[in-house]
Amino acid sequence: PALHRQRHQFVIDFIKKNKPKKVVDLGCSECSLLKQLKFHCEIELLAGVDIDGAKVKRKMQGLAPMLTDYLQPRNDQLLVEMYQGSVTQRDARLRGFDLATSIELIEHLTLADVDRFSEVVFGYMSPAAVIVSTPNYEFNPLFPRLAGFRHSDHKFEWTRAEFKSWALKVCVDHGYQVEFTGVGRAPPGQQERVGFCSQIAVFHRLGGREVCNVFRDDADDALSYTLLYSENY
Ligand code: SAM
Repeated sequence: PALHRQRHQFVIDFIKKNKPKKVVDLGCSECSLLKQLKFHCEIELLAGVDIDGAKVKRKMQGLAPMLTDYLQPRNDQLLVEMYQGSVTQRDARLRGFDLATSIELIEHLTLADVDRFSEVVFGYMSPAAVIVSTPNYEFNPLFPRLAGFRHSDHKFEWTRAEFKSWALKVCVDHGYQVEFTGVGRAPPGQQERVGFCSQIAVFHRLGGREVCNVFRDDADDALSYTLLYSENY
């Protein structure tokens, strides 16, 4: 299957196993991951954020349940909330989630903004789990005719060591543990040397779901995002 499908399937498999109730997709673009997640009955709150509000609006109608969705009736209600906003800025409505996903987002940020992202996502939103995927630079020689980065908007592409060093610092700074994996395998014999095409870090907050600093006293509990869509199903 196509690589973007493999990344989304990775998230779906994680959700089937860990059963988070509140899930937010950061840099959700045209909501394609969110549309797949709405079928998972354990989820009660599904949110999406993207800096490009027009992109979100283009396809968000597809988040509404189709008639056929009712063939599998849900036990609980599903609340869907879509926001225009930047992951470098805090918004109190995104705190207290069980899972935040950031699929092919960070490489679109400057390194200064990656620092802000780390602070906002891990330090402020502090979800119980975070999944971050980003291109693995070491895999690039396997793409024929690729000069430079995989996309003109990428500000960087990290080697496995660079990704690991960022992730381990996040863990120390904000109290998480991390495991590394990926999707998109190299041809036989080359996997060890180049790694996965997309590298993935799965973070869990130390102390688990219960320990949560949502209730700390923040003077700056800003609502910096714009609500584009909110629907209760
Ligand atoms: N996550 C999507 C997926 O898996 O199909 C696609 C990600 S797309 C390659 C990167 C997205 O990040 C774009 O939709 C872009 O608008 C968004 N983005 C870039 N900078 C952002 C920021 N500072 N805050 C929120 N979203 C941002």
